[in-house]
Amino acid sequence: SLKHDREWDYELDRIVEAVEERNATKVGLQFPEGLKRRGPAVADDLRALTDDVTYMLSGQPCYGACDLDTYLMRRTDVFVHFGHSPMKESDKIIYVPLFSNVDPFPIMEDSLDELETGDVGLVTTAQHMNRFEEMREWLEARDFTVHTRKGDDRLTHEGQVLGCNYASADIDADQVLYVGGGKFHPLGLAMEHPDKRVVIADPVNNVVTVADTEQFMKQRYASVHKAMDAEKWGVIFCTKIGQGRWDMAEEIVNDNDDAYLITMDEVTPDRLRNFDMDAFVNTGCPRITTDDGPQFHKPMLTPGEYRIAVGDEPLDSLSFDTFHG
Ligand code: SAH
Ligand code: SF4
Repeated sequence: SLKHDREWDYELDRIVEAVEERNATKVGLQFPEGLKRRGPAVADDLRALTDDVTYMLSGQPCYGACDLDTYLMRRTDVFVHFGHSPMKESDKIIYVPLFSNVDPFPIMEDSLDELETGDVGLVTTAQHMNRFEEMREWLEARDFTVHTRKGDDRLTHEGQVLGCNYASADIDADQVLYVGGGKFHPLGLAMEHPDKRVVIADPVNNVVTVADTEQFMKQRYASVHKAMDAEKWGVIFCTKIGQGRWDMAEEIVNDNDDAYLITMDEVTPDRLRNFDMDAFVNTGCPRITTDDGPQFHKPMLTPGEYRIAVGDEPLDSLSFDTFHG
């Protein structure tokens, strides 16, 4: 009998079909950090369902579909990425979404206290996408006019947000309901769309709140101020497949003789401490800068913030850093 946790659908049939179709002998399996523990049971089940196939679990960190293990991908016939929606499509890659099984409706009911009837935007993360249409109908049944949008190419689904992309909230409504766990996404959304009120219905922690960007903004201004007298700048170019903004990184070092291009995969405080820099500009995942920034020993700025710190742009041009396409 199969060993994996039956609460989750790993779409083993779809994987087995691809393995047989391609006569694969090597298959890579990649799970995000929080789901890595499930890898062995899924590999066991696949071994039981196929013959003469070697399954390899990626042991590299994985934060998103922006972060495919390209080393493993090149060395396998089929590569399965679990838990994120597609960013780059390729014949070899199978994306298996893993949906949350929490019921969003009780907390949506509570969120009605924070919403004004009328126009409302609706967004969620890939994990809750399987209930998106139900959420929309639920709101419509309560007399809301629900505005949704498929964002740009970085996003797969209508109404989906990523930590680095909120194009799906470019809609005609002053309020947006975010249904999902934690404040990470709604804070980014409120930063990117400062004129919208962002109501958070969090079915994981069972709370309703309204996104408040004040702390976030203060922290960004503080980092910019600290970096203003920096001389030596480290400009980070991230080599993860979906985090590279080469033109942006190159432009900064071309314009500034005291800026050095540093290429890396994992952007961590330990790795940057070895460089003798006064400040860093991060062109990789924007959330490293905005959410983990304070853990680094020197100020770390987004590319836009760098322009402010060196005096190319005014302080009030500060805006949230997003990835497009
Ligand atoms: N991809 C998901 C989850 C984002 S988690 C989404 O967009 O919704 C984002 C966090 O992953 C960052 O704050 C950082 O802690 C980590 N991360 C992403 N890319 C990284 C990198 N290149 N190096 C180190 N940490 C990274
Ligand atoms: Fe990748 Fe960061 Fe964007 Fe998430 S927020 S998809 S980790 S670049």
